[in-house]
Amino acid sequence: MTTPDAASNYWVDSAGDAAARPPAAGRHEADVVIVGAGFTGLWTAYYLAGIRPALDIVVLEAETVGHGASGRNGGWVIGNLAGLERLVGDMDAPARRAICAQLADNVDQIGRVTAREAIAADFHKGGTLDAAARYPQQVAIQKAHRAALIELGHAPEDCLWLDGPALAERAVFRRGYGALFFRQTATVHPMKLVQGLARAAERRGVTIHEHSRVRYLAPHHVITDVGAQFGARHIVQATEGYSGELAGLGHRVLSVRSLVIATEPLSEAVWARVGLAGRPTFCDASRMINYGHRSRDGRLVFGARGAYPLGGAPKQDHAISSADIELRRRLLLDLFPGLPADLAVTHGWGGSLGLSRRFRPHAILDSKTGLATAGGYAGEGVAASHLMGRTTAELIAGQDTPRTRAPWAHRDVAIDALLRRWEPEPLRWLAAQTISASYATEESLLRRGYDNALARAVMRANDRFAAIIE
Ligand SMILES: Cc1cc2nc3c(=O)[nH]c(=O)nc-3n(C[C@H](O)[C@H](O)[C@H](O)COP(=O)(O)OP(=O)(O)OC[C@H]3O[C@@H](n4cnc5c(N)ncnc54)[C@H](O)[C@@H]3O)c2cc1C
Repeated sequence: MTTPDAASNYWVDSAGDAAARPPAAGRHEADVVIVGAGFTGLWTAYYLAGIRPALDIVVLEAETVGHGASGRNGGWVIGNLAGLERLVGDMDAPARRAICAQLADNVDQIGRVTAREAIAADFHKGGTLDAAARYPQQVAIQKAHRAALIELGHAPEDCLWLDGPALAERAVFRRGYGALFFRQTATVHPMKLVQGLARAAERRGVTIHEHSRVRYLAPHHVITDVGAQFGARHIVQATEGYSGELAGLGHRVLSVRSLVIATEPLSEAVWARVGLAGRPTFCDASRMINYGHRSRDGRLVFGARGAYPLGGAPKQDHAISSADIELRRRLLLDLFPGLPADLAVTHGWGGSLGLSRRFRPHAILDSKTGLATAGGYAGEGVAASHLMGRTTAELIAGQDTPRTRAPWAHRDVAIDALLRRWEPEPLRWLAAQTISASYATEESLLRRGYDNALARAVMRANDRFAAIIE
């Protein structure tokens, strides 16, 4: 059952009233102007104001704090990075392990800061059931995934393999053949986090203007849609999947749409059948991506099946159709046999995430022009934006830290030189359609029990696609 008015964002509904901030007006000089009040922009502001309290830091947000992906994501805080193998590929084993230790600590640091700043963002570190195998063929793939994580530098004790019965003790999936339990993952209420972070940055002296869309961005100078102007030594572009045409970043960080639903709070009897008692996040091994978690108030928050829209323009209107909601409700019912057939969905919403052509996250400072940017999280940006925002702050402050020495940090590099442009349309759209169709074919063959040469060939092809885009 889907309620007819379900198309709304659960995180917005449950975050409480947000502070309203006035738009920018007039002409100003600042030290640092940050464009975008999502996690990246706000973590940059928060850390920079902590390191250099005397700096005049201004954040300009086109809509309201958390309007972008930061206020509408699945709430996973992942102790890993999308594209990590590309970042650490050339490093030796001890260096890779040091990077993975940073990624684990990055999750804990978000917990520490939320506690220190009294941000009630429901931070909970329950680990993740990463890619439950629901067909026998997926077991070998997921075991190989576990081995690859350890080879990349994650601690073996953080990457436990659970066979079918051990998995069932944590979550009762329909056809749960096994899963990796990765310990370094937490959950948050993302809207409470982004709003609390904005207030924490303001307490450190940062100024935030809402309804202040930057239309012109050049070294040391930005102009908003109503003509407010700022001169600054550094301009940080933190617009990720909402970059659009601004200074050409939209051609370099692509906008991909992703949709999420939230159910009504489930009864203890239902939770007893579903599991997830420790509130780990979960996903299955489908390449179509089905992921979720049990919220603090006992709902399932569940996302599935993003899409790349032709042209890649970010959507500002995030309402989704009842058909979109119903598809995800059915996927959820298929995943957990313990859910009631009349499971009610109370919320459904969408958002845009950013994918860089290098398929890895970045924090870049071009010291010559004073321009900086961070992003490219490929849908895994809640923890990554904290790391990249902190790194960007340290780069601007001229610090030498484990983060500024890490492979995601780039000092003295022109943004255009590092971030390649995506191929022109319709090539991008056609590639996205081809990959989606191939993933759907694999899903359909597995579901129908095929274990033949065709199924294996499709899975091999999809392994190659995944190696390119993940
Ligand atoms: C549906 C969905 C589910 C997701 N689930 C997860 C998850 O569970 N775990 C995870 O790790 N990641 C997830 N992600 C990704 C994660 O949310 C993002 O990577 C992260 O929030 C990016 O933060 P950001 O600050 O870089 O960008 P955003 O939060 O998108 O912020 C960019 C901001 O820039 C503003 N802006 C844009 N243009 C201008 C302009 N010209 N002038 C002024 N302001 C401008 C926008 O309005 C926006 O507020 C998900 C994303 C989506 C969409």
